[in-house]
Amino acid sequence: MATRQDNTISNIKTLNYDAVIVGGGGSGMRASLQLAESGMNVAVITKVFPTRSHTVAAQGGIGASLGNMSNDNWHFHFYDTVKGSDWLGDQDAIEYMCREAPKVVYELEHMGMPFDRNEDGTIYQRPFGGHTSNYGEKAVQRACAAADRTGHALLHTLYQKNLEQGTQFFIEWIALDLIKDEDGNINGVIALEQETGTVAVFQSPVTVLATGGAGRIFAASTNAYINTGDGIGMAVRAGVPLQDMEFWQFHPTGVAGAGVLLTEGCRGEGAILRNKDGEAFMERYAPTVKDLAPRDLVSRSMDQEIKEGRGCGPNGDYIVMDMTHLGVDTIMKRLPSVFEIGKNFANVDITKEPIPVIPTIHYMMGGIPTTIHGQVITPNLEAGTDDEGLYSEGTIVKGLYAIGECACVSVHGANRLGTNSLLDLVVFGRAAGKHIVDGFHHNDHNYKPLDTHVLDFTVGRLNKLQQSTEGYNAQDVADEIRAIMQKHASVFRTQALMDEGVEKLLALEEKIDHIHLADKSQVFNTARIEAFEVINLYEVAKATMISAASRHESRGAHSVADYDRPEDDDYAPNGRNDHDWMKHTIWYSDDNRIIYKPVRKTPLTVDYIEPKVRVY
Ligand SMILES: Cc1cc2nc3c(=O)[nH]c(=O)nc-3n(C[C@H](O)[C@H](O)[C@H](O)COP(=O)(O)OP(=O)(O)OC[C@H]3O[C@@H](n4cnc5c(N)ncnc54)[C@H](O)[C@@H]3O)c2cc1C
Repeated sequence: MATRQDNTISNIKTLNYDAVIVGGGGSGMRASLQLAESGMNVAVITKVFPTRSHTVAAQGGIGASLGNMSNDNWHFHFYDTVKGSDWLGDQDAIEYMCREAPKVVYELEHMGMPFDRNEDGTIYQRPFGGHTSNYGEKAVQRACAAADRTGHALLHTLYQKNLEQGTQFFIEWIALDLIKDEDGNINGVIALEQETGTVAVFQSPVTVLATGGAGRIFAASTNAYINTGDGIGMAVRAGVPLQDMEFWQFHPTGVAGAGVLLTEGCRGEGAILRNKDGEAFMERYAPTVKDLAPRDLVSRSMDQEIKEGRGCGPNGDYIVMDMTHLGVDTIMKRLPSVFEIGKNFANVDITKEPIPVIPTIHYMMGGIPTTIHGQVITPNLEAGTDDEGLYSEGTIVKGLYAIGECACVSVHGANRLGTNSLLDLVVFGRAAGKHIVDGFHHNDHNYKPLDTHVLDFTVGRLNKLQQSTEGYNAQDVADEIRAIMQKHASVFRTQALMDEGVEKLLALEEKIDHIHLADKSQVFNTARIEAFEVINLYEVAKATMISAASRHESRGAHSVADYDRPEDDDYAPNGRNDHDWMKHTIWYSDDNRIIYKPVRKTPLTVDYIEPKVRVY
């Protein structure tokens, strides 16, 4: 393998695999398990130890209509997800996910995932925001939970199964770029080992991006520091556009001032949001499901309370969540981590007093566009637009898949329902795995030597940083990005704020081009990792801000004061303008252009759910 001093192309070692997966979180390890079980030689490259991937932080549950504790079926789940998405989700993908849900949860159970149990031995399920039975009639118990540590249980189960099947892990390696050949096919990745600074090529006919979210583009976030959108950056540098990046979910209950998440499972177990007068105000905004309304609606309602002077605390700038009536036993059994978080991050004993909360950035609904098999797909530019100015989708990027939070298979649309992300990871991780296995056994893979030109770009990036003598500190630039995003693309947006945000972000280009690495050492040089990460953060931030400024309506998490309209408005109820804006945004990094493609309206086996005003 090439040494740390010598990253000239001829010295970079190439490793061959049947498949390379970038990311050892829930989605990456569900896919790798499928491949390893089929006998494929699979490598998982991960920035952190697999069980420290961000999936470990998932608390509340994984959604599946098992119906263990109340009347439920996949049709209700399908309806809730379409409505939750504010009709921007693709209904074929949503049907696929909701139908597969019970199957993948039982698979996890059979792998040994330690779910909580009911008296009769079935999996415990709790209510969650926007989950209803009988098409919106009342809240339903659909979130399959392992206390408030569901992601932890999931990730450890998958890691153990992967070890059993011989998946090879490259731990604390950071993937830098995809390797694209002259025909536009992806042939693997180039990655850097953090411990030694060694660079290697992972050559493979199949590369899967499973790099998770990018919540660190915002200043206040529930996301881990590692969530910097690296897969997104790699995809756009390989010419792949991004879909629906304006849609970012704010979770209503981040600990005020700290950002750490208090799961929606709290409200699932009966917690109530209160304003300074002690009023359970969600009854006014969502009379049927109250505190269990979807996240966009709860976040906006909290913001409204604060704006109208009913916020809590000396500055009236937060809301409180009250769990005191749940009782110590329930809290310690169902929400033990929340109890710890209350103590450690807010100095609050949640069994005795309400805890201050504030909406905090949480989840990226958009991402790298894919089919339901996880194949990366781009619009068919050659075919031109239809009468409505929309491009059709149609060009598969050969050799490239994306799954998990970095992907946009379009099941979450404009707003994700809680527990549908863990579900998305395992459903589409498994689906991609199956598709890769089928394709692999039908193809001839002889790993031709790579033309070394394909490495020039990345080697140039490495050398530029290593030889830099002046420029900007990566963390300072990252802080500037975060400050801009927090101010200009927050819970409530205005057109003027977003337009200004675009200008401010584009003005940072020069700093991004001139990042200075002061510390040139090779051994565990985290400053170098951060320098690569900030470039990825910047791509995600630009995609978000430019897509947001281009969408002239309010839909789901994209709430713009300029486009507010009343619920009974004929043309755009609640600001959602289906006539002009029921379409997916596609952003290209090379010239920041935006184009649009249609929302898929043909579920696999059932009738299309027609749009209606979204009330709860
Ligand atoms: C606090 C919190 C609680 C949540 N609770 C729930 C819940 O209860 N239910 C639910 O459905 N969803 C929940 N979510 C959302 C859900 O947890 C995430 O969307 C999901 O876990 C993301 O999984 P992933 O596999 O896409 O990525 P991750 O688990 O984030 O894994 C990403 C992987 O990519 C690797 N990686 C990244 N960049 C690189 C690179 N350049 N090179 C190499 N490796 C790289 C990382 O090391 C990591 O292994 C929660 C989210 C948060 C923040």
